[in-house]
Amino acid sequence: MIGVVDGALPERTHEYRNHHLDSTRWDNYAARDDDVIITTAYKAGTTWTQRIMASLILGPGPLYADLWEISAWVDARFHGPVEPMLERLAAQEHRRFVKSHLAADGLRFFPEAKYIVVGRDTRDVFMSLFNHYAAYTDAVYARFNDPDRPGPELPRCPESPHDLWPRWISDGWFEWEPDGWPFWSHSHHLSTWWDVRDLPNVLFVHYRDLKSDTEAEMRRIAAFCDIAVDDERWPELVASVGFDAMRAEARERNLMAFAFEGGADTFFFKGANGRWRDVLLLERHKLTSGTTWHAAGLVGQLRATHNLTRLAKYTAELFARLEEETGLSTGFRKCGYLQLATTERRDEAYLRETAYMRSVGMTKEVLSPSEVADLVPLMRTDDIIHGFWTPDEGRANPVDVTMSMAKGARQRGARIFEETEVTGFLLDQGRVVGVRTERGDGALRSHSASASHSAAEIQLVCPRSSPYASARIARSISDSIAS
Ligand SMILES: Cc1cc2nc3c(=O)[nH]c(=O)nc-3n(C[C@H](O)[C@H](O)[C@H](O)COP(=O)(O)OP(=O)(O)OC[C@H]3O[C@@H](n4cnc5c(N)ncnc54)[C@H](O)[C@@H]3O)c2cc1C
Repeated sequence: MIGVVDGALPERTHEYRNHHLDSTRWDNYAARDDDVIITTAYKAGTTWTQRIMASLILGPGPLYADLWEISAWVDARFHGPVEPMLERLAAQEHRRFVKSHLAADGLRFFPEAKYIVVGRDTRDVFMSLFNHYAAYTDAVYARFNDPDRPGPELPRCPESPHDLWPRWISDGWFEWEPDGWPFWSHSHHLSTWWDVRDLPNVLFVHYRDLKSDTEAEMRRIAAFCDIAVDDERWPELVASVGFDAMRAEARERNLMAFAFEGGADTFFFKGANGRWRDVLLLERHKLTSGTTWHAAGLVGQLRATHNLTRLAKYTAELFARLEEETGLSTGFRKCGYLQLATTERRDEAYLRETAYMRSVGMTKEVLSPSEVADLVPLMRTDDIIHGFWTPDEGRANPVDVTMSMAKGARQRGARIFEETEVTGFLLDQGRVVGVRTERGDGALRSHSASASHSAAEIQLVCPRSSPYASARIARSISDSIAS
């Protein structure tokens, strides 16, 4: 903490010098009043924000040079002598936007410049850092660990994230930092900037918000930097900072190949959050071999409780976009769902249902008999009081849905084992701490048994589970029935 109070400006109280960083490179930086300084600890959206600034300032077209040249990382010790970098920056005629990975207690603070601080969930930062660190080439290690390096060498990346995490989260590289070994601290960086978040020239941006609504965040950044953008330009500006566009640009310019095995594809890995989750799915037979195999695939949204309805609504939205993410179709067709009321009591029930569905944000239209006839010309409508039309519902192929979801889960790090029956649970003082299978035991932090009609069997092997709903399913198959 730097303990800034009442609008006081941050002060440099620490020198950050190691294999990567040298905060003294800022000593001769001649700031301009309209400079923008983008700062994160690392892997929190720095390059993304630099690219956003490039589009806002230079327009959406191809960059006139590599991004790292246009938007220099000033405190990067391994980028060679600082003087040529400062000369290049001094020669820039457009508005400048530079990058720093320094905490607020290590970076020079210019009251007229603007500072954009980008935050991200620590666990996502860690996973992204591991991906980045694990791909460092021998050439880049040699650059970091040159003989003039201050402090110890950057050690080689451990085998797995599990080997790096304990030390990264509990040891500092610099003595005043609580964590971040062998780099520097993400938490210290953020907390020092958080202390000055109320200064008018400091803007906080979050990676999650950049991902969920890039345009809204770009607009915030543009407003903060006093950059006016015509409304019709937003679509192309947003497209120019998409992950695929940035990856393609980096590939084309052959950026990152020196530093990373796999070049741009490694640097712009997935940009996904939540990869730290360790999810294991055990299936005793094959995926879809349970009730799913029999389902007709109708995708309705109304459920018995508010939360189940919201979940079903989310499911219908997910089915519609899952293919984009996984490349596997769910067979979802939004053909709509029509209910007919032919008695007063049914009509009242559907009217209540309609009011409820609208209250949770769903679209449901009440149709007159002639509107029903327009929708389904073949139908007789003289006995209908109202039709109730839910346009967002439809049908999907249950097997394809499952396969697409399984692929998406695998893409996010989940592991799926088929032909692996759960035969018991391991308990510690009444708490489930592990799972027993025919193929061995495994530790669990939490578990969810989705055994459908076998829920009761699961309860037999796990006295702590109690089925939310245990269903018995009866099914009959007949020969064709003559009409
Ligand atoms: C005829 C029919 C039609 C239906 N139509 C529709 C419809 O149109 N729309 C709709 O939304 N829903 C429909 N449903 C309901 C729908 O099929 C289910 O809600 C859904 O498939 C449940 O999925 P699930 O993954 O929870 O269960 P399941 O698909 O049954 O999966 C449970 C899995 O757990 C596995 N398992 C069980 N015990 C163990 C163990 N000890 N260890 C490891 N694995 C185990 C099983 O092998 C199984 O694969 C229909 C159901 C039926 C029967």
